Amino acid sequence: MRADVVIVGGGPAGCFVGGSLAKRGFDVVVVEEHGEVGNPACCAGIVGVGGFEELGIKPGSWVLGKLRRAVIYPPSNEPIELTREKVEAFVINRAEFDRVLAREAASAGATLLLKNRCVDVKIGRDSIVKIRGTHTGEINARLVIGADGPSSIVARKAGLLKSERYLKCAQVEVIAEARADAAEVYLGRSFAPGFFGWLVQAGDVCRVGLGTTEGNPLQMLRFFLEKHLVISKKVEKVRTLEICTGLIPEPFSRKPYTNRVLLVGDAAAHVKPLTGGGIYIGLSCAKFAAEVATRGLEAEPDEKTLRIYDQMVKEKFGREFELGVRARRVFEMMSDEDLNTTLGILKKDSVKKLVLENFDFDHHGSLIRALAAELPGLLQELGVKRVMKYVRGLLSVK
Ligand SMILES: Cc1cc2nc3c(=O)[nH]c(=O)nc-3n(C[C@H](O)[C@H](O)[C@H](O)COP(=O)(O)OP(=O)(O)OC[C@H]3O[C@@H](n4cnc5c(N)ncnc54)[C@H](O)[C@@H]3O)c2cc1C
Repeated sequence: MRADVVIVGGGPAGCFVGGSLAKRGFDVVVVEEHGEVGNPACCAGIVGVGGFEELGIKPGSWVLGKLRRAVIYPPSNEPIELTREKVEAFVINRAEFDRVLAREAASAGATLLLKNRCVDVKIGRDSIVKIRGTHTGEINARLVIGADGPSSIVARKAGLLKSERYLKCAQVEVIAEARADAAEVYLGRSFAPGFFGWLVQAGDVCRVGLGTTEGNPLQMLRFFLEKHLVISKKVEKVRTLEICTGLIPEPFSRKPYTNRVLLVGDAAAHVKPLTGGGIYIGLSCAKFAAEVATRGLEAEPDEKTLRIYDQMVKEKFGREFELGVRARRVFEMMSDEDLNTTLGILKKDSVKKLVLENFDFDHHGSLIRALAAELPGLLQELGVKRVMKYVRGLLSVK
């Protein structure tokens, strides 16, 4: 089999870039190991309204809910509510959303090979993608795009997988007491060290999940559901069928291109540093990937041409992600006591106002910069010794 481009992975990033390239007239093959696009999908499904607008994606029947507020539970469990009383984000049915993108790619002319796993990739002038499944064999292509998620085989084979640091996540669908328009965020080292837990209503059920930098996420999720003072009271019934685990890559830890190879989505580690969200960022960067792939395929998809992809990504998100990665590193080091102190500042009306004025669901840079103005007061409350710990952490970020 031969194609201009083989895309490994039929998730949102793969289908999106596949559709864009097929629309431009290229011969595109998307290889997906599962029998159905979007199944399984381990995702809370929260995506900013602005992000979809920017991408030109009109909300469809895959929208399960509309979020107007965030309720943050610090380790003290004294909730802090933040709202501008407008819809900030959608909760989506990931399976259905992914299928819409897959159908668009197919109707633009891309070939979707479901139930076929990519087992090897050899990069060269005429790259070879080896697949096993209903079409066991080899596909030759001028360009290979890795859209195969966090532990991407394409990234590995192309020598682009340098960091194996992941956030481990687990999520379950439950019947729970929740406000339909609120995303709840739970912070605390004993439940979700280095990250956070969440509860959000998605249609008839609620998704409860967490991410952690330590331990077994499934065991931690069980502990969260049973022992967390707030969550254990809210959750009525666990629909165990819908338990899933997933990885979130270390944000922006990978070079997303090399000679005749591009990475998109989680395979490229294009995820938001503070929340791990990758749908908007993945698709936004996949747009650049399609543009640069087109230039490459019209001439030679060599490293020099494909490098522009990374430049475009950095131009749009670079500064914001640098800030986000630093903020995340500091957050990962925080004790529960420091989290309580730090989040306590959100109770001040002036700080709340600052947050609401600068909050953007998809871009966190301006919020981080605005909050930096509150640092002197916070440093005083945290004390010099504790602050030095975080300064050292900040300096350790490369
Ligand atoms: C628990 C959890 C909650 C999340 N919640 C949110 C959220 O609320 N909002 C948000 O924006 N993001 C969220 N994310 C992140 C989001 O799910 C990802 O950023 C998004 O799925 C990335 O899309 P993708 O297309 O790059 O990769 P994926 O969705 O991972 O798709 C990759 C595809 O490649 C296929 N594949 C992998 N290897 C091979 C192979 N060798 N051969 C063939 N096919 C292969 C897989 O089957 C899969 O279909 C969450 C992640 C987790 C783990």
